[in-house]
Amino acid sequence: MTNFDPVSRNAAPFLHGPEFAAVTEALQAGQYGHNTATERFESELAQFLGVPQVVAVSSCTAALHVGLLLAGVGPGDEVVVPSQTFCATVQAILMTGAHPRFADIDATTLSVTSATVLEAITPRTRAVVPVLYGGRAVDLGDLQRELDERGITVVEDAAHAFGSRLGTIRVGATGALTAFSFGPIKNLTCGEGGALIPRTPAQTDRARTLRLLGVSQSQATRIRSTTYDVDTFGWRYHLSALHAAIGSAQLARFDAIETARKTLWRAYARALADLDGVTMVDVDVEHSVPFNCVVRVAKRDSVFQFMRDRGIGVGVHYPPNHTQPAFAQWSRPLPVTEATADEIMSLPFHPAMTEPDVARVAATLRDAIAYSRRS
Ligand SMILES: *Cc1c(COP(=O)(O)O)cnc(C)c1O
Repeated sequence: MTNFDPVSRNAAPFLHGPEFAAVTEALQAGQYGHNTATERFESELAQFLGVPQVVAVSSCTAALHVGLLLAGVGPGDEVVVPSQTFCATVQAILMTGAHPRFADIDATTLSVTSATVLEAITPRTRAVVPVLYGGRAVDLGDLQRELDERGITVVEDAAHAFGSRLGTIRVGATGALTAFSFGPIKNLTCGEGGALIPRTPAQTDRARTLRLLGVSQSQATRIRSTTYDVDTFGWRYHLSALHAAIGSAQLARFDAIETARKTLWRAYARALADLDGVTMVDVDVEHSVPFNCVVRVAKRDSVFQFMRDRGIGVGVHYPPNHTQPAFAQWSRPLPVTEATADEIMSLPFHPAMTEPDVARVAATLRDAIAYSRRS
């Protein structure tokens, strides 16, 4: 179903086909806001993940914002977060009035570890936001007692990790507040969208109120009433029925995506195994639904340009945040983040790619490394 050269795109949404009919049906139904289609998608997600409740929202950024509020994060608080993430993670922290406390990462996974989180915690820390880089679960279990004693809540940025597991348990069901993205290129797409996994019925109610402009009644109740209650502040963060329809169609076929992404990652692992000077970031493919395929190479900028010049859609995920102008006031030395930031390069990775596509990328990467060594 692609009308572009698969290797020219770093990432791309994958549609199975029935999404088109689902959107048409939702358009014809004539109610596009939060409605029963959104609520159906929420129950389907809850069943898939093995959790009692899911709160669908308009993006992962919104889910992180609401999740941090449920964790009690507010002005003056600090939130521990890796600098190695998409800027949305950090912006969600600023939305609460808190500020980021940047943590370093492990070079093999590009994720925080218990040790790097512990090193970053201060008396002002109220929450920790691990980023599940590439789809790999982050296990902070050995820190849990210490975090509980300090009143620190874990809010996971699982934008990359829909479908992944920690051991046998799906990410989202492991006990943290979890935020997923259903944006265009994520493992499951709604076009745009996201979800928050709350932990208690009280959190679920509050999250549902915050995402609907502070209004607590459901749409079904409101349309039969002459009034409604605005209980608190809130945002327009609901997931529209049009987006939910796409999500439901995608979720019903998620098995195929899980298989395709694992198969693709393993094909890269085989194709790159004998390539000197290339280290793959370890996504723990056994337990994860890989979101990307990131390698570390010397002379990255030269390798990157060589690949781009040959039509290969390489990318860099991500330039670190602690050196961005918006966040520089919270900068501090992060040696592993800084060293790996100059080496990382994301190879084209999306379910429409085939083994010959992988071979083409690997062959070009081999040439790029030989070229960059000569220059
Ligand atoms: C995509 C992404 C987000 C933001 O998700 P949206 O749904 O676009 O708001 C946050 N964090 C990471 C790591 C992401 O990749």
